[in-house]
Amino acid sequence: MPRFSNPWPHTDQGFLKVLRWKFGRMPQEEFITTDDAPAPLIPFTPEAPPAEGWRITWLGHASFLVQGRDRSLLIDPVFSDHCAPFAMERFRRAVGTPCRLEDLPPIDAVLLTHSHYDHLDLPALRTLGAEMPLVIAEGHTAWLAGKGFRKVRELPWFSDLELFPGLRLTATPAQHFTARTPFDRNQGHWCGWLLEDEASGQKLWHAGDSGYCPAFREIGERFGPIDFAMIPIGAYSPRWFMRSIHMDPEEAVQAFVDARCRQAVAMHWGTFRLTDEPLGEPPLRLKAGLEAAGLAQESFVVGAVGQSWSLP
Ligand code: ZN
Ligand code: ZN
Repeated sequence: MPRFSNPWPHTDQGFLKVLRWKFGRMPQEEFITTDDAPAPLIPFTPEAPPAEGWRITWLGHASFLVQGRDRSLLIDPVFSDHCAPFAMERFRRAVGTPCRLEDLPPIDAVLLTHSHYDHLDLPALRTLGAEMPLVIAEGHTAWLAGKGFRKVRELPWFSDLELFPGLRLTATPAQHFTARTPFDRNQGHWCGWLLEDEASGQKLWHAGDSGYCPAFREIGERFGPIDFAMIPIGAYSPRWFMRSIHMDPEEAVQAFVDARCRQAVAMHWGTFRLTDEPLGEPPLRLKAGLEAAGLAQESFVVGAVGQSWSLP
């Protein structure tokens, strides 16, 4: 029996319809571009964390290096060549990582939003070591302990903990699902992570993997304004199937507004070909979506893999 579910009304697609999609028997959606080039990649030389302020680096897809208060944290680090249980060509990385995992500065903790292969890369976690502190959405501790990880903590939605002195971490809700095998659907939960620097009051938020849902407004009411957000914009086509689990770029703009974000960077695009849309489409639709919403392009940016942003 699934242990977790989404509390808001949303559609779930029948298995037969999904099979028809997989075997190419559903009508194709129209796209605004045929550009299928992955996100650009720029060289990245990892550095020690800043003592003041924050530095956030996109490592591709939903992976980020978040550094501040003398700490280096990873969120959803994926370094494997495929986001699948074995080397399936369909799930091969379309753009490289900006550095090797071994080149990163010492990592203090890893935050995991859920257990999908494009977010939880066991080989990467094993390279970081069995003693690496891991924090994950509720329901994964026993599974990770079974994989040999000894410092696992899990959090239910809206629960928090002091990750390190002066750094408060809260699990935020999202609309999604989990499965690593055909037998473990929704046995673990899914979440986003809100990190609060208590000395400066700065708030950073990784939205996790999510369809558009009422959670974002509640996150904004509880935590807004959020100084820096990482928001997914890709893996949305076909809509009839993906709408309940992944936002399209226009919905991502609405999530940015709902959660009262001051600044955001786009993620979950340009790295793996998970769905039907061309890899180059999400940034174009984000640009148009920001314009339609009357928001400055600088408020929600599309970066290169390896790019860093600073929060003074
Ligand atoms: Zn996912
Ligand atoms: Zn994902």
